[in-house]
Parts: sequence; C-alpha cells; structure tokens
Amino acid sequence: MTAGPLRSLRVRLTIWYMLLLAVTLATVGVGVYFALRESLYSNLDDSIQAREDLVRSVVIQDNDLDVTGVQLPGDPLEGEHFIRVYDAEGRLVFDNTAGQAVPEDPDAIQSALEGQSSGREVDANGVHLQVDIQALTTDRGTVGVMEVGLSDDDARDTLRSFLLILALAYPLALIAATGGGIFLASRALSPIDRLTRVARKITAEDLSQRLDLRLPDDEVGRLAQTFDEMIARLDESFRRQRQFTADASHELRTPLTALKGQAEVALQRDRDIEGYKEVLTAVNAEVDRMIRLVASLLNLARADSGEIPITREPVDLGRVITDAAEQLRPAAEAKNLTLRLQSGPDVTLAGDQDLLLQLVLNLVDNAIKYTPSGGAVDVTWSADGRAAEIRVSDTGPGIAAEHLPRIFDRFYRIDKARSRDGGGSGLGLSISRWIAETHGGSIDVTSEPDRGTTFVVHLPSA
Ligand code: ADP
Repeated sequence: MTAGPLRSLRVRLTIWYMLLLAVTLATVGVGVYFALRESLYSNLDDSIQAREDLVRSVVIQDNDLDVTGVQLPGDPLEGEHFIRVYDAEGRLVFDNTAGQAVPEDPDAIQSALEGQSSGREVDANGVHLQVDIQALTTDRGTVGVMEVGLSDDDARDTLRSFLLILALAYPLALIAATGGGIFLASRALSPIDRLTRVARKITAEDLSQRLDLRLPDDEVGRLAQTFDEMIARLDESFRRQRQFTADASHELRTPLTALKGQAEVALQRDRDIEGYKEVLTAVNAEVDRMIRLVASLLNLARADSGEIPITREPVDLGRVITDAAEQLRPAAEAKNLTLRLQSGPDVTLAGDQDLLLQLVLNLVDNAIKYTPSGGAVDVTWSADGRAAEIRVSDTGPGIAAEHLPRIFDRFYRIDKARSRDGGGSGLGLSISRWIAETHGGSIDVTSEPDRGTTFVVHLPSA
C-alpha cells in the first residue's frame, strides 16, 4: 500500500509527530500573540484614562473650563503624547503638540460636545498615536472637550519583536523537535530492527537459535520474549517429530530383523513340514506384532493430524469396562493373576465406543503384563453428576518416581526388553492419553515401587 520511506514506521511516526507539533506550536503562538496584544492595549487604555483624569482635574476650576496657567507634564519633543483642550464652542484653548503634525478633527470635537466621545489612530511625524476625544462636563453641563493622544509604538514594537522571535523560534523548534523525534523513534524501534535481523536467521532447520535479546520488559521486550518462547515450542515439537520418526523406524526394524533371522534360519537347510510350520508360526506372531505396531503408529499419526473422526454416541461405560476385562481374563488366568472387576453405577458417556474400549484394554493389558504371577489386578469405576472415573490398579512392581512423568511419552518404556517380550511398543499409554484427552478427560498415574500402580481416567459424562 504505502511505498518507499513511508514503509518505515520510524518515518511515519516522525512525520506525525512533526505535524502534531507544528499545529500545537502554531496554536500556542497565535494564542500568546493575541493575549499579549490584548494586555498591551488595555494598559495603553488605562494610561489614556489616567491622563484624561489628570487633565480634567487641572482644567476644570469651579465648575468651569480654565486653562490659564495650566502646566501639563509632557514630552511633546519626542511626540510620545499630546493633550489638547477645546472650549464649549469648539475653539482650541490648549495645545501641547508643539508643532507636531497631529491633524485636528472638528467633526469628532463637535460630536464630543454633543456627548459622543470617540477614538482614532493618527500618524504624526512617524509616531503612531491612539487618540481619545471626550467631553469635559461639570454640574453646569459640557464646558469643553479634551483630546488625549498616546503613542502605542512601544506596544507595537513589543508585538513586532514577539512575532520576530516566534518566526525564528518556530522553525528552529520544529527542526530540533523533529531531530529529537527521529532520535526517539529510532531508539524505540531499533530493538525491532534487531529482532527482525535475528529472526531472519532462524530457519526451520536451525530452531536452536534464540533471539536472546535481553531487552527491558516493555512491549518490544515482551514481543522478543514471546517470539523466543514460540521458537522454543516449535523446536520442541520438531524435535519430538524427529524423535518419533527415528523411534518408529527403529521399532519397525526390530521385528523385521527378527523376521529376516527366522527366514534365514529356515532356509539354511531343508526341513520337514513341522519344521516349516514352526518357523511360519513364529513369523506369523512377529507379523502380528508388526501389524499392531503399525496400527498404533497410524493411529497416533492420524491423531496428530486430527484426522481420526471421533464419533460421539452414547456409550455405556460399564459395558465397555466389563468387555475389556472379560477379553483379558484369559490372559490374566494364564499368568495366574486375580482379575477383580467391581461394577460401579450406570454411566453413559458421549464418546467413541471403540476408542474407549481400547483405552481400558491398554490399561488392563499393561497391568496384567507387568504384574508378576500370583498378583492381582483391580478394575473399578465410579461417577458423580459430571464425571466418570475408571481405576485400574495392580500389585505389580510399580513405577519409580523418575519414570512416572515420562511413561505417557511415545515409545517410552522403563524396561525395553521386558516390554518388547510382552509385545509392548511403548505406544500404549500415549494412545490412551490421547483417547482420554480427545474425550475431554485426563489420565493420571500413582505408583509405589514394589507395591503396585494405579491408573485413573477421568472422563466427563454426557
Ligand atoms: P508398553 O507397550 O511398553 O506397555 P506403554 O505405553 O503401555 O508401553 O507403557 C509404557 C511403560 O510404562 C511400559 O513400558 C512400562 O515400563 C510402564 N508401565 C505401564 N503400565 C505399567 C504398570 N501397570 N506397572 C508397571 N509399569 C507400567
């Protein structure tokens, strides 16, 4: 939209600042000029007034005009002021203009005699005078007219000097302020430039970099801080992604290596039907494991991209839990474990029946897998008005505190070999957590080493 230098915030800020300042200064200048003028001229009026009072007191004696022997102070030489007095017929009876070329104004005198005072401005010998003409009245009526003139050159000089100062100071102040504005804008915005420069260097390949600008805690500082936090989150999620890919490849390679080994052994020499059956059975089991692993991976990948459509239908939670427990009862019995299912209240959830089943299966399966024979696995559920709670506890080896925060991570296994022997891939709990969260719930674990582990799932009810 805007082109050239206007694309710089610095320039735009400075221009705005300059405009505002220009208008403000001009307004203040004009205001002060008129206030000063008003004050100067009102002083001048007061002086004229004072002179008129003086003249009145001197030329009126016994209710009559008497200018004989009148001595009035003045400086007619410099022409700064003058006084004239006229009698009731309008004849000039006193004049200290001393040859100054102040023209008389018979019409104004006449009007004053009729009670109409007036003022005018005159130029005399280069002196500018404010002149006031007033009637001299006594108890006997109008006895004459006085004309008092006072130079306003001082006031005009002051105003002129003021305008001159203003005319010089205005552009100077504008220039100085603009310089200051540019400096301030540059100072305020330079961290943003720095931010942009450093941010340009950060690419998807190198998210380890941070701005690390250590700016003060102001708007820009917080922006940089937020940016760093965002990069840190991106970095973490890219790192996880890479880790996930690496782990997934690794997980897939293990069964493939096993398959290859089995095939190679089988091919080493001719075997009878039984021999081939044995190998194929082992291969079949390994392939099953791979299918489960790939299915889990696919699930997680889809969950990540939000692709899995979650159906929201009324689910009878008790049924789901009972189904899961009954499905796994043979496995528990095979390991000589007591699987106790304690029924809870009727709970209906809005959710995906298959996913919820998988969630409970994962937890009960883990409990059976990791509890040594002779132990027990307890499955219960409860509900209040707003939420349901599923509990799966076992008397297994427990999980050490340092592992607890990480067991929900993908591929995280405390004892890799044992987990893999039991068919585990380290994805079960991360899938379980995703299922709980996608239903608006959560999953927690508490464990006491050597005593057992309890997983608790909270799910909001319908
Ligand atoms: P796996 O496929 O290895 O079971 P999970 O994600 O289900 O993967 O579990 C992650 C790890 O948490 C397991 O490898 C195991 O070490 C630990 N774990 C899970 N459930 C239990 C349990 N009930 N008792 C002890 N350890 C458990």
